[in-house]
Amino acid sequence: MRSIGGRSQATRIGISRRHALGLGLAALTQPLLATPSLAGGRLMPPQTSAPQSNPFPLGVASGDPLPDGFVLWTRLAAEPLSQDPLSPGGLSGGDVLLKYEIAVDPLMQRIVRSGLARAEAVFAHSVHLEVSGLKPGRPYWYRFVTSEAASPIGCARTAPGEGQPLDNFRFGFVSCANYEQGYFSAYRHLAAEAPDLVLFLGDYIYETSAPLDKATVRRHGDPEIPTTLAGYRNRYAQYRLDPDLQALHAAAPALTIWDDHEVQNDYAGEWASNFEPPARFLLQRAAAYQAFYEHMPLRPSRCLQPGTAPGAAMRIYDRTNFGDLVSFSMLDGRQYRSREACYAPPYGGGHVVTARQCPELTDPSRSLLGEEQEAWLYDGLAASKARWNVIGQTVLMAPLHDNHPGTEAHEWTEAWDGYPAARTRLLDHIESSGVANPVVLSGDNHAFWANELKRESDGTTIATEFVGTSITSYGPPYEMVAKWLPSNPQVRFFESRKRGYSVVDVNAHRMVTRFQAISDAADPEAKVETLASFVLEAGRKELMTA
Ligand code: FE
Ligand code: CA
Repeated sequence: MRSIGGRSQATRIGISRRHALGLGLAALTQPLLATPSLAGGRLMPPQTSAPQSNPFPLGVASGDPLPDGFVLWTRLAAEPLSQDPLSPGGLSGGDVLLKYEIAVDPLMQRIVRSGLARAEAVFAHSVHLEVSGLKPGRPYWYRFVTSEAASPIGCARTAPGEGQPLDNFRFGFVSCANYEQGYFSAYRHLAAEAPDLVLFLGDYIYETSAPLDKATVRRHGDPEIPTTLAGYRNRYAQYRLDPDLQALHAAAPALTIWDDHEVQNDYAGEWASNFEPPARFLLQRAAAYQAFYEHMPLRPSRCLQPGTAPGAAMRIYDRTNFGDLVSFSMLDGRQYRSREACYAPPYGGGHVVTARQCPELTDPSRSLLGEEQEAWLYDGLAASKARWNVIGQTVLMAPLHDNHPGTEAHEWTEAWDGYPAARTRLLDHIESSGVANPVVLSGDNHAFWANELKRESDGTTIATEFVGTSITSYGPPYEMVAKWLPSNPQVRFFESRKRGYSVVDVNAHRMVTRFQAISDAADPEAKVETLASFVLEAGRKELMTA
């Protein structure tokens, strides 16, 4: 199918595509000529780092945009893979203050804000700077500066004022980047499209590694499954050393949610897929959640709960609006999940059941989002005034059945098929809320899908689901799934043999979703092509190919 590239960018909110591209790919630390004058803080470099080492090897990121600001992130880690749990990133000692600068031009010549940011020792010397008081609906550029070095420059962006008109918006969505299974060319190509925003839909890292006798494209530095804070920190640091991932974070602000591999494959709430007792598993989960926070441009005032140990509970679900055009509800599909149906040895994670074998499957008290998040989502959808309402989440929402006529449906317990009552509740609420143009975006599956989400009773389409393929992670067997498709008419497109990313261009009249496939995840110079494009017209449910 043909590409839909080349639309005018003139009315997008003010960033030149060429500028952003140049910045995104120029993710190099620049020597600083003049030492910034800083008053009153302990300045870099701390005693433990060598004078010439780069304090910013993990790059920079921005996220959680609001009309007057955003969150800026970096992490000081002169020795990013240091194995010493007492000096993560090679740093010991207390908090470090470093200078930040925010400018209205990509060369940082017109600085409109500067000050001191705190790299918190308790969070592995990561910075989560909540910036406010900026102008709505425009790009800003930022960097961090120590006495010896400046970080790469990143591009952040404020959302337009609440309900303000926004003509065009471009965002990307990505998921499932197994470091061992390929290079992150998909991230690089998405950065080059200069999206206004990127949704990270989970499996940003993988906790598992291939056996050492099995060939891989790259290796996790430590093949052990992390269970400690130090282990998870190093896994994130290894991923964040990747230049393509750094380029994407530098190019655009992020909205970030986790799926399972940020902690453990197929876990649900306090229930480990390896049957670790909950009390022990929750310690591992807290370490993983904390390391996730430390490496993502997440808003501390939302994530960190006073009086709660970091990571013990962390709110990552949230809603971000871009003017009157698009609202993003980003969901946490793991922390509050009911235990997977018929969880018993040997099945601690995803497995296939039928409702007859496993009556628990259809128990209406089970939830994928948890009661509180469900209520928050339903209220938000009902109140939304946005033209397009995107729900960013992780696992496949459309039903997928491998059944043949006359046999009982087989359900995969790990996706929404494993929580059918919760899915029915959600679709009923989407419909009864009258929310405009609902679109679900999903990850986890390692395949591109375009699906119609239908009311069970009569097959009326209620919403559309797009699933992005993985950045690198191997996809499900194409031939097997393709055989099921004739009995799954809600599936309009499926392709599991390609790795890549997705880009959405949206305006008041239509949303165009482009599935972008890279040539080969094993090739660090992989090229990209458009695999398929879909058009949704505002106010209509029919999914059309472009
Ligand atoms: Fe995955
Ligand atoms: Ca997953």
